[in-house]
Parts: sequence; structure tokens; C-alpha cells
Amino acid sequence: MDVFKPMDISDNSQEEVIESVEKVRCLIIGSGPAGYTAAIYASRANLKPVLYTGLQMGGQLTTTTEVENYPGYPDGITGPVMMDDFKKQAERFGADIRFGIATDADFSSVPHKITIDGSKLVEADTVIISTGATAKYLGIEAEQKYAGMGVSACATCDGFFYKGKDVAVVGGGDTAAEEATYLAGLCRKVYMIVRRDVLRASKAMQERVMNTSNIEILWQHQAVDLFGENGVEGATLVKKKGTPHEEIVKIKIDGFFLAIGHTPNSEVFSKFIDTDEVGYIKTVPGTSKTNVPGVFAAGDVQDPHYRQAVTAAGSGCMAAIDAERYLAETGD
Ligand SMILES: Cc1cc2nc3c(=O)[nH]c(=O)nc-3n(C[C@H](O)[C@H](O)[C@H](O)COP(=O)(O)OP(=O)(O)OC[C@H]3O[C@@H](n4cnc5c(N)ncnc54)[C@H](O)[C@@H]3O)c2cc1C
Repeated sequence: MDVFKPMDISDNSQEEVIESVEKVRCLIIGSGPAGYTAAIYASRANLKPVLYTGLQMGGQLTTTTEVENYPGYPDGITGPVMMDDFKKQAERFGADIRFGIATDADFSSVPHKITIDGSKLVEADTVIISTGATAKYLGIEAEQKYAGMGVSACATCDGFFYKGKDVAVVGGGDTAAEEATYLAGLCRKVYMIVRRDVLRASKAMQERVMNTSNIEILWQHQAVDLFGENGVEGATLVKKKGTPHEEIVKIKIDGFFLAIGHTPNSEVFSKFIDTDEVGYIKTVPGTSKTNVPGVFAAGDVQDPHYRQAVTAAGSGCMAAIDAERYLAETGD
């Protein structure tokens, strides 16, 4: 699967023909740590959850090798094996896990209506949206070639593997500034590759970057390629691209971190569900409740800040408990 492109589920141009209708108490959309954890809790609470996996069964972690920061695995574990464990645990309690993609949603009345694969209507008393967020990449071929071999979109996840080494962070916003300062605490040297001649990051973040001695900002540089035998050994950049002063610059690095944003997979619900300007679903602070009663959100799709497996799993647990309490209160 192409891990670098958000899946396009927004094409509603073809007329949907509903072939079947099913009623469920709890529908979970997405099979990452948030969705599977919600499924474990919801099935143990006897909500008989049905979970649709989406295209990427197991979620983002299936695209990585080592996961070393998920509690309970002292020797680390590979992402695909960990997600298979999540799935087995949910199935053990009776969660009904199916392959399918939510292609449309109508939350204007209860029960909530979700269309799966354009042809199946699920009427659900409660819905847990756990569709994740997809990291943005530059779109250069080398990002795919070196995926898991020096290219990463998550400093918290992968920074540790580059302890004492030289890395580059692409981006000039708050996330890039945060990732760069985080990596500066682990790595020997951090280059920030910034397209413009200013940072978009907040004043406070800019100051932190400027006051960190092992961060070097490469202003007006754009990454165009990566090189290396068995992993990233360096990047090719273009300085002042498109000007008479254009220049090719090569830097030696071991890791290449993208920090140019994420796309939350919330579009299919956006007619009814409040999101922020980027598309992250808004939840009532401290809960998984969205603006629509009976619809809850968990994991990266509602989390612009942490985006970790353990926080996604934690919020999946919250969503299942919120769904159970909602059903108890409404008598459904
Ligand atoms: C390469 C990589 C390495 C990482 N390493 C770590 C790490 O070491 N430690 C860590 O804590 N975190 C790590 N992360 C981050 C972690 O993977 C995420 O924070 C976590 O997976 C988020 O979980 P989630 O359940 O919210 O969403 P995701 O894991 O993104 O899962 C989303 C799910 O929703 C499904 N979906 C999307 N749209 C639809 C739809 N319309 N209908 C049905 N299903 C849909 C997808 O198929 C997928 O199953 C890493 C991420 C990446 C990309």
C-alpha cells in the first residue's frame, strides 16, 4: 500500500445504491489502536460492536517496524504484530471486525446512518470515529524508497533511533520547531530545512529553536532527493529554488523527519461533525464526545497534539465508556 497518500474516500460523485441495511448498537470506524481498544471495551460492556477496518487494517503502525514505546512490550515489538495482538484481543470478546470503508454519514437523526463501501447502510445507536490522521510528505520518490530506513514523520516515535546522529527536519511551523527541539536533545546535529526566509512557528517556539545550539536552520532550502546505500546517508537540497542564485546543497544526515502537517481522516463526517480548521474533530475536553450526541471520536483524528499509539488507545477506551454511558442514559 502507498503509505504516503491519504486515502481518497471523499469521491461521492458516483450514485450510492444501498443494497442492505443493518442495525447495530455500536459502530466503530477504523482499526488502529483507538478503534481496536474501543472494540475491546465495547465488547466487554456487551455493546456487541461492529468495527469496519478501512483500507489500512491495523492502522498506521502496520507501516512501521519497531515500536519501542508502547507499555507492556519490554523488548519492543513490530507494528504489524502489535496490531494483530490488538485485533485478536478485541475478537476474543466478540467484536465483529469487518473489512470495509465508511463512504458516507448522516448524523441528522437517530439512529445514525453510515454507508459502508457505498452499498451497505448501517444504522447505529452510537458511532465511534477512529479514522486516524495521515502525515503529509513532500511527494519525492526517495521518501518511499527510504521509508523505515531513515525517513520518518514522527520524532517522538523514531527520534531515539538517531541518538548521537545527525538529522534533518523539514518544515517551518510549530510542529517542525517542536520536533527539531525534541530531536536536538537526542541528536548531535539537527538541520531545519525551511522553504522560506522566516519560520511560521510561534514566537515562543522560534526562540526555543534559536536558543538551541545544535539546530542549524537552512533558510530558503527545499529537499529534492535523499541518498544512501542501505538507508539515508544524506539529502540533496536546492537553495533559493527558481532564482538566479539557485544552488544545489548536499548535507550528510542519518534521519530525515517530515514535519509539514497531517491530514485528519474526517472528511466523510464533516457535514455533521465540528472540526478545527485543519480537520481535526473537536471533542468536549476530557471526553470523546463530539457535537452530535451518540457520536464519539478517538485517536489521531481528534488529536493534533500527541498522536501516539498509547494516547490513541487511551482515547479509544474513553470513547467506548462514553458510548456505554450514553446508551444507559438514553435507554437504548
Ligand atoms: C511510520 C510510523 C511510525 C510510528 N511509530 C510509532 C511508535 O513507535 N509509537 C507510537 O506510539 N506511535 C507511533 N506512530 C503513531 C501511531 O501510529 C498513531 O498515533 C496511531 O496509530 C493512531 O492510532 P489511531 O487508531 O488514531 O489511527 P490509525 O492508526 O491511523 O488508524 C486509522 C484507521 O482508520 C481506518 N480508516 C480511515 N478512514 C476510514 C474510513 N473512511 N472508513 C473506515 N476506516 C477508515 C484506517 O484504515 C485505519 O485502520 C507511528 C506512526 C507512523 C506513521
